Amino acid sequence: MFEQELSQLEKQYLLRRFMVVESYDGPRITVKGRNLLLMCSNDYLGLSGHPSLKEAAVKAMEHYGFGSGASRLISGTSVLHEELEKRISVFKGTESALLFNSGYAANTGIIPAIAGDGDVILSDSLNHASIIDGCRLSRANVVVYPHKDVDFLESTLKKIRNAKRTLIVTDGVFSMDGDIAPLPELVMLAEKYGVILMVDDAHATGVIGKTGRGTAEHFGLSGRVHIQMGTLGKALGSFGAYAAGNRDVIEYLMNRTRNFIYSTALPPAVCAASLAAFDIIEREPELLKTLWKNRERLVHGLAVLGAVTGVSETPIIPVMLGESEKAMRASGRLFDYGIYATAVRPPSVPEGAARIRATVTAAHSSDDIDTALAVFGRLKQEGYL
Ligand code: PMP
Repeated sequence: MFEQELSQLEKQYLLRRFMVVESYDGPRITVKGRNLLLMCSNDYLGLSGHPSLKEAAVKAMEHYGFGSGASRLISGTSVLHEELEKRISVFKGTESALLFNSGYAANTGIIPAIAGDGDVILSDSLNHASIIDGCRLSRANVVVYPHKDVDFLESTLKKIRNAKRTLIVTDGVFSMDGDIAPLPELVMLAEKYGVILMVDDAHATGVIGKTGRGTAEHFGLSGRVHIQMGTLGKALGSFGAYAAGNRDVIEYLMNRTRNFIYSTALPPAVCAASLAAFDIIEREPELLKTLWKNRERLVHGLAVLGAVTGVSETPIIPVMLGESEKAMRASGRLFDYGIYATAVRPPSVPEGAARIRATVTAAHSSDDIDTALAVFGRLKQEGYL
């Protein structure tokens, strides 16, 4: 039964397989003994291998051991968990914050805690899978609105005025296209219709906003988003996720979110690494500048090559290729030329919109970007772009 389905997936170029990494060294990885330039990670500030994160984790591990041993409300809350939650709330400019074990756990936990039977969730059509799954788990009436279509959203809000509770949920930075949510319009609608607004800043935390504080900072709307979710495994180079908001919202989530309550707490060493990452972000603002300089260099070079990079506004730069087969073959050619950038295919992206989801980080040098561009140039000669 399963074999048949797997072979069907393989025929359609949709089968997924691991690429096992033997070592990580900044934006370079070793795969099958080959040194490759990594152009698809979410380690936007290049912090995952930073000596300060490693040092902080080791120190914490020596003090606390590795595992936390229990869920947060039993005995799993260490001083470092509490310190990190305070740090996140200061960073995000909110009253309070709550840690989650991953972004996937946060979205599938927070959304059903906020909305249930008789409530309405309005969710952008390109929201991340974890938001989609959170909506499904909630048992609320879910309206998927066309991507960034605020007119559709407003006409729906007018129609559902008698819903018990309404939640608008959106990615801040869309994970596959790299465009930014229309937050000013969403805030305006949330305030006008008295509904709750939740933004997923997984790819915005540490990346957008003048000081990397995310989508609300980018638009000058700090304090106007009710729930700001974000992750610590991407630009922060660590692991885990958070929800930030006012004291009541966070206390409510702490009491009502099943996968917060019923899951073992993050290891204290992971919290220590996240704290070290916040120190670096605040101490070294030039990392953010380098990230954006690299982003501009890659986008500009790809445009010169005539590559279609869609609506990207951030360090997520999709190189649109169309069919899954073409994307798989292009990714294979990149590998042959020493670049590691995976093909993203349905169902992660819509049918016919397969792509190489290229990303840049602050750890890339200008020469790295030029090397990647030279390889994309070869792909163009070979008819891929
Ligand atoms: N939200 C978005 C927008 C994401 O891109 C991701 C990760 N790909 C997640 C949530 C899940 O985060 P995590 O990897 O920490 O589970």
